[in-house]
Amino acid sequence: PGDVAALADVPADKGEVHLVHLYPREMSIYGDLGNTRCLAARLRWHGYTPVVHDHHPGAPWPSRADLLLGGGGQDSGQVRVQDDLAEHADRLRGLAADGVPMLMICGMYQLLGEAFITVDGRRLPGLGVLDVTTRGNATRMIGPVVLDTDFGPVVGYENHSGSTVLGEGQQPFGRVRHGMGNNGADGTEGARTGNVVGSYLHGPVLPANPGLADGLLAVAARRATGEWAPAEVDDSLAHQAHQRQVRRLLGR
Ligand code: GLN
Repeated sequence: PGDVAALADVPADKGEVHLVHLYPREMSIYGDLGNTRCLAARLRWHGYTPVVHDHHPGAPWPSRADLLLGGGGQDSGQVRVQDDLAEHADRLRGLAADGVPMLMICGMYQLLGEAFITVDGRRLPGLGVLDVTTRGNATRMIGPVVLDTDFGPVVGYENHSGSTVLGEGQQPFGRVRHGMGNNGADGTEGARTGNVVGSYLHGPVLPANPGLADGLLAVAARRATGEWAPAEVDDSLAHQAHQRQVRRLLGR
């Protein structure tokens, strides 16, 4: 069990899958870079060739995008990526509408919504891919989280001042079993439209939730290569970490 080195030696011959990580310098706190590393590693274990593009503000758009990732950041980081996000807004909305999977955490989740109004009243317009609106607060929502989602139970950690409200008809990413979620009041966490997932969960979220990671990769690999042919991966460590958090927080 846990023989990662042996799994990593599986020859990659099922084709390339291109991951685009948006703003890894400005928007990747609380370990969110780990989501990109997790997907790249899992692609290799499944026999695919991952190609990771880091996209920085002002840089040309990557040649290919089969899956997009974005992480959390401070309000100041969100301000720094604002212009570049506006520059690529139509492209990103088009990719989302076309079914390209995206995982956007915390600060980038907020910017995929309609708007983020900071605690000092500054309004950052979002892409409107997800029908959510966020307002900064004086009190932060911090702590471990357990959710029920379409990908199965998901564990993670939240730390945000933004309080997010879903528009009418907007599907959440999950239902809160433990933690605050979008706003601490309505029991929802994150948002999901098609293959676009927005969530407050750091951790990073993917290593402890392989079902979510492979759910996103299945869509990306099918788009990129025509099929999803996963290999058997030893996820016993991930499952142990996952179960420990569920047991500790829900007592089962
Ligand atoms: N600045 C945002 C908030 O506090 C995002 C925080 C984050 O990405 N962790 O709500």
